[in-house]
This record gives sequence, C-alpha cells and structure tokens, in this order.
Amino acid sequence: MGKNLTTRSEDYSKWYNELVVQADLAENSAVRGCMVIKPYGYAIWEKMQAELDRMFKETGHQNAYFPLLVPKSLFEAEEKNAEGFAKECAVVTHYRLQNDPDNPGKLRVDPNAKLEEELVVRPTSEAIIWNTYKGWIQSYRDLPLLINQWANVMRWEMRTRLFLRTAEFLWQEGHTAHATKKEAIAEAEQMNDIYADFAENFMAIPVIKGLKTESERFAGADETYCIEALMQDGKALQAGTSHFLGQNFAKAFDVKFTSKEGKQEHVWATSWGVSTRLMGALIMTHSDDQGLVLPPNLAPNQVVIVPIFKNEEQLEAISEVVNGIVKELRSLGVTVKFDSRDTLRPGAKFAQHELQGVPLRIAIGSRDLENGTVELARRDTLSKETTSIDGIATKVKDLLAEIQLALHDKALNYRDTHITEVNSFDEFKEVLETKGGFISAHWDGTMETEDKIKDLTKATIRCIPLDAVEEPGECMFTGKKSNKRVLFAKAY
Ligand code: AMP
Repeated sequence: MGKNLTTRSEDYSKWYNELVVQADLAENSAVRGCMVIKPYGYAIWEKMQAELDRMFKETGHQNAYFPLLVPKSLFEAEEKNAEGFAKECAVVTHYRLQNDPDNPGKLRVDPNAKLEEELVVRPTSEAIIWNTYKGWIQSYRDLPLLINQWANVMRWEMRTRLFLRTAEFLWQEGHTAHATKKEAIAEAEQMNDIYADFAENFMAIPVIKGLKTESERFAGADETYCIEALMQDGKALQAGTSHFLGQNFAKAFDVKFTSKEGKQEHVWATSWGVSTRLMGALIMTHSDDQGLVLPPNLAPNQVVIVPIFKNEEQLEAISEVVNGIVKELRSLGVTVKFDSRDTLRPGAKFAQHELQGVPLRIAIGSRDLENGTVELARRDTLSKETTSIDGIATKVKDLLAEIQLALHDKALNYRDTHITEVNSFDEFKEVLETKGGFISAHWDGTMETEDKIKDLTKATIRCIPLDAVEEPGECMFTGKKSNKRVLFAKAY
C-alpha cells in the first residue's frame, strides 16, 4: 500500500489527486480527460446509485434508455441548448476504418464511409429524448411523463480532474413532461429537494439550495435550481442541478397534447442530474490527511475485522469467534469484511483500511480471546477503545449511526463558519483571499456586474439561496439597489 499522502495544508489539490489514486478509487486512462473508475470507487458509486434510484422510483419515476448518439439536426433544434454545448461536443463523422495504404500496419478513416449526417456524442440528452417524446405524448392522459436514464455523457472539457470534471462522466438524467407550468416547476423543485435530502442524509454533505443566475443557468432552461456544497479548502462545488425548461424543448420538437378542454398545447418540461462528481464532493467534504473518510451509508465495507495471529492455530481460534461476530453483524444489516489475508501484516492492513475510509475497524488477537474483548477503532476520529465481545454487534450498529451523524455535523459546522456576510467589495476581496468559503453579499442583479466580479476575483455567484430573506441593500460592487443577498464563492 501507498506512501504517505501529501497533507491538505501542504497542497490541497495534490492531496486530492493522490488520495483518489492511493485509495484505489480511480485513475487516469489512456484517453484524454477520461478516467477508469476502479472497483472500490465503483462500489461507492453503486451505493449512491441504489439510494437515488430508490428515491426516484418512490416519487413515481421510471428508468429508460436512449441512444448515445444524437443526429446533428436534432441536436441543433433547441438553439440555446445547442449553442451552450456546441464547444464541448465530440462528433462522429465516419463509420469505418480501413488499412492505410501509406502506413503499413496502421488504420485510417475510410474516406468512403463518411456519414451523411454527423452524430453528436450526447453531452446531455434533451434533444434525443424530446424527439422521442413527440411520439409518446398526444393527450393530457399521457402526462405527466416521468423518466430517468442512467448513462454516460461526454463533454470535451479543457481542464479535467478525476471525478470532479471529466470528459466522459456517469450520471443520471431525469426528463419529465407536464401539462402545466405549475406542475413542471413543482417537479423541478421536488427533484432539487431530493438531491438535497440525499446529499445531507445519505452522504452527510450539507448543501445550500438555490437558483442559478442567468449566466450559470443550464443552456435551454428558464430556471436552474441547484445544490451547492462547500469543500474543505473553502471552494464551492455544484453537487446537483434541476432545470425548469419551460416549453422550450416542446416548441423545438413540436410536442403538443390535447388538454382536458380539447385544446392543443405545448408540453412543459424539466430535466435534472447528478454525476460522478458526487464522488469528488464526498472525498473533499469528509476525508483527512490519512486518506478517505466514508460515511457508513456509502462504505462498501462498514466494518473490517483484522485478526492478529502468529500461527495457523491462533488464526483458527480467532476465526471461530470472528465468524460469530460476522454473522451477528450481517443479521443487523451491517456490511463486514473479515480480512484474514496472510500476505499482509496487521499494520499494513490497518493502513490500507484507514486510507480507504472504512468507518470501523475491529482488531482481535489471542489475548483478546482470553479476555473476551476486541479493539474497536473509529476512522473519523481515529480513536480506539477496548470493548467486550459481548454485545459488540449492537454496539457497532449504534456507532455507525453515530458516525454518520457526526460526519454531517462536522461538515455543517465547517460550512456554517465559512459563510461570511460582507458589505463592500474591499471586504469581499479580503475574505475571499484569507478565508474563502461562501460570501453573502448584495448584488445588483446584472450579468455585467457578475462578470466583472468574476474577472477580478475568479469568484462566481454560486446561487441565490431559496431561503434568502428580503432585505434592502446596495450592490457591493456598483452601489445599485438590491433586495436580497446572494452567495459568491470560488468554485470547482
Ligand atoms: P448539467 O447538465 O450541466 O446541469 O449538469 C448535471 C450535473 O452534472 C451537475 O451536478 C454537474 O455538476 C455535473 N457535471 C457537469 N459537468 C461535469 C463534468 N465534466 N464531470 C462531472 N460532472 C459534471
């Protein structure tokens, strides 16, 4: 197992990259900007998927699958969406390779196999899906249509980071159709609430729910809702988005329905997504200089048991007791792994499980057997205690629940102590330089001011919080009138 990690205070970004690789979550691949998600990282992603999928289905959504490739004519139909994504699109132009006559042993694109219509690798699927919905929606009885897709998408990002921003990423994208504007807005809000609930209660990541400003809005949306989280280096991360798309896609693809009153009307739409970026949020919210820290809900193994033995005989005696503990833990729904490998010393196993964020470690040796005890170690606090084998399963189960809450509270405390109100641009720059975090300030509501602030400081408006209170004020930059504060931050 790996060498020591760079510490967060030394170099946060280096710490992150090393952690992802050393904890065996993912690695860079031969493809520019694309990562390989390794089994341990994928197991965590699967836990996220399973819970989100459950929440989507509980609110009436069904899964379906649409093609990876989108004919260019469909892609360009909704102009704003097309324009917004154009610069990041990979495009398929040919469908065959052939031997290269000038370069023996090499292949080239067959010039005779040029596609009549170019195909865009989906950066998002509104176009292909709304083209399909045209055939599915005729009457108000067909609505609402509540579909989700688990898929990969591709956005040709210039600066990529493992999980946070990759050229290909995994996500889910919900695409819903509704009879009324009100219903569609309610859906967009509901899904943003689901993301917030998931982030806070499942991932132990506190988030702020808000609306994006025009310049950060999804291309083709009338309104973008989002959840914003704060990482330990004081930078914000957009953790999920939910869009109210108005009738923009219905108009572009001519999707109409006959209303109860017999009138032909365009359908109202939403779309919403979270991606493998959530893995980055998870890492940067909870982890420490020793490596990954996993909330129990997301840990592939919530507990590992490490035997400490000198010979086969001792291992056998320990295994017998451990098998009983394992059985009891599993019956309580706890995922547990007995790490009885004889190829690694206990110390090396401890280091590996620490690096990989296993919430609880139980170590048990021959002396423990005599005393009827084990050593129980918590990953989040790095504290250890000796405890009785009697009742260990219930104790572990309770501790896991406690750790889940403790991680949330710790992150919440960090977040809340890193929201600073400022009233002048000088103060703003000072806080941004020294403390970072979210900065709550008045803004005049114009894109021009937002752009200037971004050019000068790299900070952007992360969101207009949904719970922002009306409060008369003056824009910290222009002095013009403002009626509520918005949240600025440097962001990933
Ligand atoms: P969007 O369709 O732009 O609203 O993005 C949907 C979700 O995917 C949001 O949670 C984004 O933060 C996330 N996302 C956007 N671009 C990337 C990327 N290059 N890599 C990983 N996640 C991304």
